[in-house]
Amino acid sequence: MRSKTDILVVGAGPAGCAVARAYALKGKSVLLLEAEPEGKSRKRFAGEWLHPQGVEALQELGFGDITSVQGRPHGKGFVVYPGHGEMPVKLDYVEGQRGLAFHHGDLVDEMRQRVAKTDGVDFRQAVRVAAVDDHGVTLEGGERLEADRVVGADGRSSVVRRSLRGAGAHKAMSAMTGILLEGVNAPYPDYGHVFLGKPSFLLGYEIAPSVVRICVDVPLKYKTEMKDPEWLIAATRETLPPVWRQPCEEQIRAGHLRWQANHFLARADYGNGRRVLIGDAAGHTHPLTATGITNGLIDAMELVQREDFGEFARSRRRACRVPELLSRALYDCFSKEDAFSQSLRRAVVTLWRNDEKERDRTMGLLMGNGRSFLTFAGPFLKALVGAWRGRDNTTTMGADLASIASWIRLPMAYAMAGWVRAKS
Ligand SMILES: Cc1cc2nc3c(=O)[nH]c(=O)nc-3n(C[C@H](O)[C@H](O)[C@H](O)COP(=O)(O)OP(=O)(O)OC[C@H]3O[C@@H](n4cnc5c(N)ncnc54)[C@H](O)[C@@H]3O)c2cc1C
Repeated sequence: MRSKTDILVVGAGPAGCAVARAYALKGKSVLLLEAEPEGKSRKRFAGEWLHPQGVEALQELGFGDITSVQGRPHGKGFVVYPGHGEMPVKLDYVEGQRGLAFHHGDLVDEMRQRVAKTDGVDFRQAVRVAAVDDHGVTLEGGERLEADRVVGADGRSSVVRRSLRGAGAHKAMSAMTGILLEGVNAPYPDYGHVFLGKPSFLLGYEIAPSVVRICVDVPLKYKTEMKDPEWLIAATRETLPPVWRQPCEEQIRAGHLRWQANHFLARADYGNGRRVLIGDAAGHTHPLTATGITNGLIDAMELVQREDFGEFARSRRRACRVPELLSRALYDCFSKEDAFSQSLRRAVVTLWRNDEKERDRTMGLLMGNGRSFLTFAGPFLKALVGAWRGRDNTTTMGADLASIASWIRLPMAYAMAGWVRAKS
């Protein structure tokens, strides 16, 4: 069978549902294809925290009732626990803005229900796209579907991205397990908690009243150890607040864990106009800074609002560059184990603790409020100087200089990439 539509969207995750609805509201005919059969979305461990811009995007795209569901936590920002019994530091969203927390499966189910009822959208579930070209897609089983534009919203292993760029790999960063604790509360109920420790860090936040999600980040070098429940319990025991320790241990012993791999792919390529990439298909980073869903929703909105594809791609590249760099730098800072990196971690926390402007700046950068590389470079250099002054002399100068060199390489690579793009 052959059929033709204006827009064909591959993948009905947050980005796919958002773009399908936005195009339909503009009067386009949309075919939305999803591989997952109905009722499977609750099994997935993925994004559960939305920044204020993402909440705004949901409302603008006509998913506003999702943001006002009774009891859904509205996040005020993050609380960072530096470890060693030190007092936590609070980083609030600027100007009293609010994020949102939820079970990933609930968000996806609610978005799918609304998009399926939107005039102009034909939503087909349990169909997998096998091949893509500039004129449409071929499903597993051979059915051919044609469209003026194919939007790849099909996540990290996107078949649409592979059709454009080949298998080009995204880079594995770490593994993460999700643990759900019921009947407990968070120390700061409206905040995401970041607990710094060893071997890496833990995240924890309420996703519903008295339901807490714990995310344990495990660097890849521990991939053998992490299969042992006792190792995982030991890794979380020291770092978690006492009220969460016992329930967390029980969940680990009972095997109630959901593992996911975390990957990195820079947001550099949004496709060619006929095949467009949005959401995780365009690029993704470690979930520490919780930018994935917000990025996907804003991609969807901008793609539909901007008539010109080139303008869309340029705007999104500019907007995502600094938050992506910040996310990578913070991930390294919170997970690297060498002495200089640990000194840098202390310097970053001290900077946040002592300077409200730096706290606001970090939260602003996370939300895409600083597009120039210099908005990142200033505080980064301040933290490097603080880390150098705060070295604990347990290592050699050579080891610290090698670590500094590796720290400078990352922002330099971003600065160069931005400069080359600006010139071309
Ligand atoms: C452990 C973890 C924690 C995270 N925490 C956060 C967080 O707190 N906040 C945040 O913002 N982000 C977080 N993220 C990232 C976030 O989950 C993603 O950025 C977001 O889900 C991406 O949305 P998407 O719609 O682009 O892709 P996806 O959510 O991956 O959706 C893609 C959809 O496409 C479908 N699909 C794939 N291939 C095909 C095909 N060939 N044919 C048809 N359909 C197909 C899939 O079944 C899926 O439904 C986290 C990620 C992980 C792994």
